[in-house]
Amino acid sequence: KSEHLRIPPWLKTEIPIGKNYSNLKQTLSKLDLNTVCVEAKCPNINECWNGGENQISTATIMLGGDECTRGCRFCSVKTNRKPQPLDPLEPQKTAEAISKWNIDYIVLTSVDRDDLDDQGSKHIAKTIKEIKLLKPNLLIECLTPDFRGNHQCIETIINSGVDVYSHNIETVKELQSFVRDLRASYDQSLNVLKYVKSIKSNIITKTSLMLGLGETDEQIKQTLDDIKLAQIDCLTLGQYMRPTKRHLKVKEYITPEKFDFWKQYGENYLGFKYVASGPLVRSSYRAGEYFIKNIIN
Ligand code: SF4
Ligand code: SF4
Repeated sequence: KSEHLRIPPWLKTEIPIGKNYSNLKQTLSKLDLNTVCVEAKCPNINECWNGGENQISTATIMLGGDECTRGCRFCSVKTNRKPQPLDPLEPQKTAEAISKWNIDYIVLTSVDRDDLDDQGSKHIAKTIKEIKLLKPNLLIECLTPDFRGNHQCIETIINSGVDVYSHNIETVKELQSFVRDLRASYDQSLNVLKYVKSIKSNIITKTSLMLGLGETDEQIKQTLDDIKLAQIDCLTLGQYMRPTKRHLKVKEYITPEKFDFWKQYGENYLGFKYVASGPLVRSSYRAGEYFIKNIIN
């Protein structure tokens, strides 16, 4: 008998439309810029783009095409072992569009490009450099693939001028091979961020976990300990949502109170610079606001 979990009320949201949101959306189409926020119909768009009390707005852009060489069982991005070649003009075009856009903090993410010699690292770094040339004060977070742990690729990103280096560990150790592509692993992901700190200690590092995949509280605690031990500064925790019926089932809907518990635990007991934790939190959730409030101030 298949178990049917009902979607709890706290996850039933509509995308709220704010004034800034409509303006930005219009600007976006003029600039020919695709954001993950719009493409993925992210429910946080109003909060992220309007920027809360401090009006520090955040948006996420995906680089390197829309096909990934990997096939994680939670992710809706298409898999292709030989994706389209990179668009050599993408770094410049993205930088030009972003620089005309009134945004304070940009998250650049990318599909995994295991098909390329440098795994796409130079393309990402080039985009960061181009943006910094045109808009030096824009804060840039780069959410990278694991680059199979390759130090040269990681250094390429570190040396691009990026402000925040993030890489998502996604789930607890015990569920890695069940949830992620087999080329990814818990230790490899932790080692990427450890390596970043060992090369440049003042760069901010960040990771993210999805909850509700069947992990236990003990496993979450162990994971947070391991993340802290890897000197990772910031953490985000959100509910896993199944993108389609072909993806992994949700095992549990975690309550907002439990997410609050993990936030308190991570910030007050383990001492992370910040923990963004809630059912709808995604790794880029209000990242600019959190950065300004907890890291710069
Ligand atoms: Fe965009 Fe990320 Fe915010 Fe969603 S959480 S609106 S993807 S920046
Ligand atoms: Fe999705 Fe990233 Fe996994 Fe590719 S590597 S399938 S983009 S989660």
